[in-house]
Amino acid sequence: MSHLLLVEDDALLQDGLRAQLVSAGHTAEAASNGQQALTFLETQRFDGVVLDLGLPPVHGIDMDGIHVLRTIRQRLSNLPVLILTARDDIDDRVQGLNAGADDYLTKPFDMAELLARLAAMLRRSRMPAFDSAPESEHSFKHRLRIDPDLPLAWLGEEAMDLTQREWSLLKLLLDHIGQVVSREDVFSVWQTQAPEVGASGSNALEVYIHRLRRKLHDSGLNIRNIRGLGYMLELHHP
Ligand code: CA
Repeated sequence: MSHLLLVEDDALLQDGLRAQLVSAGHTAEAASNGQQALTFLETQRFDGVVLDLGLPPVHGIDMDGIHVLRTIRQRLSNLPVLILTARDDIDDRVQGLNAGADDYLTKPFDMAELLARLAAMLRRSRMPAFDSAPESEHSFKHRLRIDPDLPLAWLGEEAMDLTQREWSLLKLLLDHIGQVVSREDVFSVWQTQAPEVGASGSNALEVYIHRLRRKLHDSGLNIRNIRGLGYMLELHHP
């Protein structure tokens, strides 16, 4: 059971969502705008947030979901946040993920999917960070270390066999762990870090992602393909 903050200005949707969260065994507070959300966050301890990005201004001041999300990340860096966005608003989603959202759903969404994503997000948030104590029973089978300057990386004690281009891709993903890295991000890094390699077609990127996935096999890490947006390094959940 988790204590959740639900931020949604549509009263009907807010009521429906809250009822579902409660029937799934959670407790939930509901806020209808960004100001209310921030007040709840200052006065209570939450395990997670469901945040609509399209929120109304408060007293004429713009307080949309991105603003709330940025404030959450400044103050409570680890609080997991699932954002809700209008369908097809890819810019919003990218902005939300880059502002530190853990997951997103587009409206209209299926309630069962929301509950499943929320459960996965809350489970992930209870796992330790990548550099946590190896004694932890939840720690990864192998942990990934990467040299910041040279094309070297290790899974546990074992050195990975990486090309320059694979290393720069892996480093980019690891530097943005839990965030989406766009194809354009990869190409621009490749231009500076692996200029000796020829033209960067989109097929080439998929080939490199595929190779890296194989090399990360059994590491507890997975490169998730986020359709239309890019790639994200995350914990693998069997
Ligand atoms: Ca809204």
